[in-house]
Amino acid sequence: MQDDWLDNTPWTVNLLPYIQGLQARGLIEVNVVVIHATELPTLAEARRYAEMIHYPATQTGNSGHFYIDTDGQVACWVTPDRVAHHVKGHNHASLGIELVHPGRYPNWYATDHQDWSTPYPDVQIEALINLLDQLQVRLPRLHHIAGHDELDLDRVPASDDPTQTVRRKLDPGPTFPWETVYARTRLSAYVRR
Ligand SMILES: [Zn+2]
Repeated sequence: MQDDWLDNTPWTVNLLPYIQGLQARGLIEVNVVVIHATELPTLAEARRYAEMIHYPATQTGNSGHFYIDTDGQVACWVTPDRVAHHVKGHNHASLGIELVHPGRYPNWYATDHQDWSTPYPDVQIEALINLLDQLQVRLPRLHHIAGHDELDLDRVPASDDPTQTVRRKLDPGPTFPWETVYARTRLSAYVRR
């Protein structure tokens, strides 16, 4: 089954060093794809974050399965037959796609930095739609799509004013073109809108 993800694929394969420490799963268990923004300026920065160890017992960290750069290049960092840590409470049955996008970088939790004005380049969204098609061919139970912001509603104290709170996760954010993505995939909303 690994071959489906590693050989003759339309994406680059650049697996994280700790992938063997991530829990294995059957592809049949994957029913939802979660769309993220890295909230970092570059793919290289996202890689640096993804390689950090957050779970000492397994020597693993937080990452999506696939990354799409602003120029539309797609890379697989974790094969979908492993559980990646990308969305609190929903990792086991989900697959994470990370779009390189600055989001609220570098003042993620500042009260005056919650706007999300950077558009997603068309080429990046086209690459996402293509990837969603490819994934549906390979994952028989993949029927749903969600934004990270729909699944993680936690708030945290603001970095510039601890008396206020801001959303912990806002990605993929208000500039993500949900209408286009819904119109061009067969995936349906995971969370009722
Ligand atoms: Zn996210």
